[in-house]
Amino acid sequence: QVRKAGGDNILSLSEADHKKLNRKSIIEKRLLTALDQHHLKVLYQPQADLKTGKIDAVEALVRWDDKEIGVVSPDELIPIAEETGLINQIGSFIIEEACRQAVAWQQQGIEMKVGINLSVREFRDKNMAKFILETLMKTGCPAHLIQIEITEKFALEAEAETSIIQQMRTLEEEGITFVLDDFGTGYASFRYMQLLPIQTLKIDQMYIRSLTQSEKTQRLINGIVHFGKSMNLTVIAEGVETEEQKQLLKQYGCDAIQGFFISKPVTAEKIPQLISS
Ligand code: C2E
Ligand code: MG
Ligand code: MG
Ligand code: MG
Repeated sequence: QVRKAGGDNILSLSEADHKKLNRKSIIEKRLLTALDQHHLKVLYQPQADLKTGKIDAVEALVRWDDKEIGVVSPDELIPIAEETGLINQIGSFIIEEACRQAVAWQQQGIEMKVGINLSVREFRDKNMAKFILETLMKTGCPAHLIQIEITEKFALEAEAETSIIQQMRTLEEEGITFVLDDFGTGYASFRYMQLLPIQTLKIDQMYIRSLTQSEKTQRLINGIVHFGKSMNLTVIAEGVETEEQKQLLKQYGCDAIQGFFISKPVTAEKIPQLISS
């Protein structure tokens, strides 16, 4: 706590807070430029089907390496972009890229689903569904190739916002699927499974990390997979890094895995060679 001698007892910021605020405003400023100059990139991380062993889906992940401030991770970037409203521009960029890429792969004879992360803030835009459907049309991307990943926090907030649920239903009717991401980390409620058009559960990597050491986690994940299957949902595990983790998940009946064990996120050009190897 920095306090000036003899000054009023006004709330003063700690040095750490100052640094954080400073970094935030720098990121904001640089982000505007980056969006303007198309400096954001997308990497794709493959998912492998555990029955066939085939890679049939990827997740689009935003990447930003700024020439002045260096790499800004999505975990830092997304919250700041949400606060400033710039998230909508990031979202538009990712959606267009993902659709264009899905079509490009299709033209190479590769049928690849592409997952896009969208936050609740992005869905507050009343034109979100319309924008997505227009982008499908513009790019010629079939709706069934697009999967939208939402988090439990999203689900919690969407519950109170009928326009968000309506937009999700519109997209579902057109053939887009929804994934409940980071499953098990937030406010998962069985209500959402009923209320929201969710087809896939993605178990958070935090559980996968402790899977081989903890029998309790094993029981939990086994239970979640069975719950998902009995609800007719597809169940995916993320953050899979080892053969042992993969084997356990396969044994439980998990449908697909994503993680460094399959591949790190890579550029779009690398995907064709990954699926043929
Ligand atoms: P997420 O959607 O849960 O994505 C998975 C994250 O785990 C990614 O981090 C990915 O690189 C990382 N990961 C994948 N496999 C492994 C593994 O085996 N081990 C470990 N340790 N990590 C693994 P990333 O790319 O840093 O993204 C972090 C989060 O930022 C994402 O979590 C997502 O919530 C958000 N995000 C990323 N791109 C976007 C975007 O374009 N829009 C929005 N709204 N959010 C995004
Ligand atoms: Mg995700
Ligand atoms: Mg996740
Ligand atoms: Mg995550």
